[in-house]
Amino acid sequence: MVRRIMADPTAPQTFRLKLSVGDLAIDTPVSVPGGAMQPETVLPTLQKVINAMVDAAEARETSAGREISCRKGCGACCRQLVPISRTETRAMRALIAAQPAERRDALRQRFDAAAVRVRDAGLSEALLDPAKRQGRTDRELSLAYFALRIPCPFLEQESCSIHPDRPLVCREYLVTSPAAACANAGQEGVVTVAVPKFSLGARGLEAATPSENTLADWIPLALALERPPPKQPRSLPGTDWIKRFFNVAQAGRDA
Ligand code: SF4
Repeated sequence: MVRRIMADPTAPQTFRLKLSVGDLAIDTPVSVPGGAMQPETVLPTLQKVINAMVDAAEARETSAGREISCRKGCGACCRQLVPISRTETRAMRALIAAQPAERRDALRQRFDAAAVRVRDAGLSEALLDPAKRQGRTDRELSLAYFALRIPCPFLEQESCSIHPDRPLVCREYLVTSPAAACANAGQEGVVTVAVPKFSLGARGLEAATPSENTLADWIPLALALERPPPKQPRSLPGTDWIKRFFNVAQAGRDA
C-alpha cells in the first residue's frame, strides 16, 4: 500500500516513500526530475523502490535463518525467460547503442544468436505477440524457453554484465535453494524468496487507458532487438509515471 506520495509536477521532487506489503515494509527517500518526461527517466526511481523491497525480503530471510544462494558467478537463472516492459525495452536498446562499438557488436551478435534459437524452436511469434500465445500461460512459455538454455546476451562469465541497469524482474528473483536446482528443466526444488512483484507495474506504464489489463504486455529480453522499438508514449510528469507504476503493480498483485 502506498501511504504517501507528495508531488509537484513542475519541479524536481524528492519524497519519502512508505510502502508496506504483507510482512515487508520500506521507508525510503526517492527523487524524480521535474517537468514532463518519458517513462525511461523514472526507471532509476523504480529500480530503487524494487531494490529496497528486495533488501527487506533478504533481511527477513536472513533473520529467519534462510540463506540466499544467489552469488556473483552463478548465472543459472540467466537462461530463463526475462519479461521486460516496453519502457525497459527502449532503455535496453539505448544502453546497447551507447556501448563502445566492439562491445555493441558483440552484444548484437549474442542477441541475434538468441533470436535464431528461439525462431528455430518455433517460439518467436508467441513470445513477441500476446495475441499469438494461443492460451499458453506465461509459465508454459517460460518453461519452453528455459528448455532452450539460451544464455542472456548480457551474461558474461556467468555474471550479469549490466548489473546496475538490469531489468526490474531480475532484481526480484532470489532463491534459498541450492544453486544446482536452478538448472532443473522444470525448476523442481527451486525455493524462491517471496518478493512482491512490483516489476509488473512497469508493464502498464504506457497503457492507453488506466483500466487496460497489461499483464500480458511484455517482451522477452533476448528478443528486445527483434522488432522496431516500442513507440514512445506522450511525456508526463515524473510523479504521474510513479503513480501509474504503483497502480498497475497493485492491480497485478491483486489479480
Ligand atoms: S539482465 Fe543480467 S541478471 Fe538479468 S538475466 Fe540477463 S544477465 Fe541475468
